[in-house]
Amino acid sequence: MYSPKIKPLTAFCILVGTQPRRHLLISSLVTTMARLPHVSEHEFSQDEVRYLEREGRDYCLAHGMKLFTAAREVQTDFNLLVHKVSQDFEFTKKALLSTVAADPFTSRLFDIYKKVWEQGNAQSISLGIFRSDYMIDTSGGLHEKCCSCSAGNNNAADPIYIKQVEINTIALGGISFSCLVPNMHRYLLHLMGQENKVPPNPALDEAADGLIKAWELYGSTSAVIMFVVQPDEVNVYDQRLLQYRIDERNNGIKVTRRSLTDIFNDGKTNDDKSLFVNGLEVAVAYFRAGYTPKDYPTEKEWSARLTLELSRCIKCPTVAHQLMGTKKMQQVLSDPGVLERFLPDKESVDRVRRTFTGLYTLDLGSEGDHNMECCLKMVEKCVLKPQREGGGNNIYGEDIRRTLLDNSQNRSQYILMDRIQPEINKNVIVRQESTSMHPADVIPELGIVGIFVSRGNEVLLNKEGGYLVRTKTTEHADGGVFAGRAAFDSPYMV
Ligand code: ADP
Ligand code: MG
Ligand code: MG
Repeated sequence: MYSPKIKPLTAFCILVGTQPRRHLLISSLVTTMARLPHVSEHEFSQDEVRYLEREGRDYCLAHGMKLFTAAREVQTDFNLLVHKVSQDFEFTKKALLSTVAADPFTSRLFDIYKKVWEQGNAQSISLGIFRSDYMIDTSGGLHEKCCSCSAGNNNAADPIYIKQVEINTIALGGISFSCLVPNMHRYLLHLMGQENKVPPNPALDEAADGLIKAWELYGSTSAVIMFVVQPDEVNVYDQRLLQYRIDERNNGIKVTRRSLTDIFNDGKTNDDKSLFVNGLEVAVAYFRAGYTPKDYPTEKEWSARLTLELSRCIKCPTVAHQLMGTKKMQQVLSDPGVLERFLPDKESVDRVRRTFTGLYTLDLGSEGDHNMECCLKMVEKCVLKPQREGGGNNIYGEDIRRTLLDNSQNRSQYILMDRIQPEINKNVIVRQESTSMHPADVIPELGIVGIFVSRGNEVLLNKEGGYLVRTKTTEHADGGVFAGRAAFDSPYMV
C-alpha cells in the first residue's frame, strides 16, 4: 500500500530484526543496559545474570514506554504554544526579523501574515494538524561545548530522553501510512505467534475528524473541503486515504483537490470574503502544498495564497501557524523566558523545555558571531538548518564550514542546532524494488500528531492525535520518507 512512484527506501522496516523483538523506543534502552559494566557471566552466577536481565529489561521497557508517553503528553502544550505565539504579531515580527531579511521565502510568507494582520482576519477559526518529531538522545544532555558560555538550551544532565527534532505545522505527510504500517507489523507479529504490542494509532481518524470539525464550524452544508495540492504530487495515495476516511466518517462532505495555480485561475472571493473555486464554496482549505518555494513558481501562486489567507474559508494551517514551524521560530522558542511568556504554567514549560536540545542563533551580531565560532570548532556536533521543509535540506559536517564561510553576511537564513546523538539499533530494511533484506544500523524518529481548533484566543479543541514513526539508516544524516531516505515504522511497546 504505497505509491509505486515513491523511490528507494520507502518500503518498510520489518519487525523481526537481528535483535528480534527489540524495537525502536524499547531497543534503545535495552542496548544501553547491555553495556553496563560489571554485568558479565564471569562475575555473577547464571541465575543472577538471568535475574538481572529480567529486572533490567522491565526497567528499560518501562522507561521506553515512558518516553512514548512523555512525547504524547507534551503535544497539547506544543499545540497551544504554536497558536499563542502565532497570535502575537509583534513577537513574531521581531522573532523572524533577521530571517525575513535573509531568506526570500520566509519573507514572502511573512508579508502575507502581515497583510492578514493589517486587514483584519476574515476567519477567526483555524485548524492545526501539527506533528512534533523526536529522536531519543543518548548524550544525557551533556553536549560538548567549545567553551563555558551558556549559549544554547541544553538541560543539565538528563538521562536518555526524547529531544525534539522539529515541529511541523503544514502538510505533514504519512498520516495514512503511519496507520497502515502498524497494521502490517501487527499481522507479522500474529504470524510469528507473538502478542500484539504495537499501540493503536488513531492518527488518520483524528486528522479526518479535525477537518470535519472545521467544516462543521464553517456552517454551510454545500461548502467543500479543498485539498490544496502540488500539481505533480507523487504522494497522492497518502492524501487520498485521508479523503476516503473523511467520506467514511461523514459522507455529506465533498472533497476537492486544487493546486495554487488552479485557485488563481478559477477562484474568486465575494464581498463577504467567501471563497469560491470552480463555483464551489470552500469551507476548509487543507494545505498539502505551499511549504516549499517550488510550490510558488510564479506570482500567480503567491497571489492565490494571499487570496486564500484573506478569505473566510478555514485554513489548515493559516500562514501564521505555518510560520511557527520555521526552524528560526523553534530556536527563538528555546530562548530564556519565551516559554514562560506563552505557556500557562510551570509544568507545561518544564514538559516542553525538557524536549529541547541546544538551538543557536546565527543572527549578525556578537551572539551569532560567537555561536558560529563555536560551531566551526566542532562542526560534527552541529546541524545547520535552513528554513525549509521536506527533508534533505540540512547541512552537516564540513559542509557547515563551507556554507557558513560562503554566506557569512547572509547566515541568518540558517539556525544551528546540537546534533542529537541517537541510540543506534540493528534492524532489517526491506525495499520495495528488491527481494533481498538488508541488515542495517537504524535510527528511529517518533512523530506525535496534534489537532488544534481555535476561534481567536478561544481553544475549541486541543488534543494529541496518534503517531508516526520513521526509521532511517545511519548512512543518511537527514531523514525523510519521501526524500527516499527513511521507512515508515511502528513502535513496539514491550
Ligand atoms: P525537515 O523539515 O526537512 O523534515 P528536520 O529538522 O526534520 O527538517 O530535519 C530532517 C532530518 O534531519 C530529520 O528527520 C533527522 O533525521 C535529521 N535531523 C534534523 N535535526 C537533527 C538534529 N538536531 N540531530 C540529528 N539529526 C537531525
Ligand atoms: Mg519539517
Ligand atoms: Mg522533519
